[in-house]
Amino acid sequence: MRKKPVQFKPFKRTTFAFQKLTYCRRCGTFSILKEQVCSVCHKKTPIPVERQAELVAAKSLRIDALIAVFLFLAGVLLARTSVESIAMILCGLILLTLLFLFQRKWRKSFFLFHLDNMFHKQLPQIKAGLLRNSQSIVRDRDAGQERIAYEKLREIGTLLRSDPIRKLKLIFLNQFYLRKDMDLEMDSLIMREFDPDLVDYIGTIARIRKDLIKKRTLRYVTRYQIEIAKLPGGENILIDVAGCALRTKPYIDQFRSLIIGQMRKLPKERFLRLCKMLHQREGYDWDDLYARAQAVCEEQYHWDPDFSKFF
Ligand SMILES: [Zn+2]
Repeated sequence: MRKKPVQFKPFKRTTFAFQKLTYCRRCGTFSILKEQVCSVCHKKTPIPVERQAELVAAKSLRIDALIAVFLFLAGVLLARTSVESIAMILCGLILLTLLFLFQRKWRKSFFLFHLDNMFHKQLPQIKAGLLRNSQSIVRDRDAGQERIAYEKLREIGTLLRSDPIRKLKLIFLNQFYLRKDMDLEMDSLIMREFDPDLVDYIGTIARIRKDLIKKRTLRYVTRYQIEIAKLPGGENILIDVAGCALRTKPYIDQFRSLIIGQMRKLPKERFLRLCKMLHQREGYDWDDLYARAQAVCEEQYHWDPDFSKFF
């Protein structure tokens, strides 16, 4: 299948996944897709859920302050003598000041309380919003808008971390012509079970963005080495991923079985890298790796002066 050239919109990362959720103050709809106008009521611009929690918390604080002022005024009006009036005014002012200081000090806690409350009370609405977002992906795909569908899935995937979402993303990603300058994901796509689409994608990333092949991906490839080797092009994927595992010493240490399995097939540049790392192996018990590398070197590179300093 011919791959489509695409250009992804920059993916905005947030500290917490929920920060991507928005809320429509008119119809109460939640969405994880950035919308200029609410896709349900078409009236208002949805606001971030954090902003909504801030507004609810501020309203609650205002109501508390109004009740306090009302009680203060009632106390002053009900005073029968001037002494009582002065006492009520003094007590009222002290209490209002204390309330103001208390609200200022605990404002953040009130906000977090309301945010937490919103997630608990409105969980069904949040789920319905995410479902509605997911349904729009089908329409995009049917309209041939695979890039938009993938971008939406990436947003939804920040909250819905499930293998079906990952699988869908991979189906789209494997249709695109991916380049190293793109904002690509890797670890977030790792699934529990063996999946050829995921392996295909790992192979692409291992070629164009070695830095994205990290522990989670290496663990997946190590676990399914046998299954990957049986796939068309699977051997080359294993070689490329083993090459990525040579980036750091902890990776070499943890994924040595993967490296040993592919050592004879590594390109010269990667094998040279392995020899260099093994040469500086202080603190690591790599005698077995070193002995195997030495055997490969004698077999394949005995004529090459690049390796003479390592063995
Ligand atoms: Zn709305």
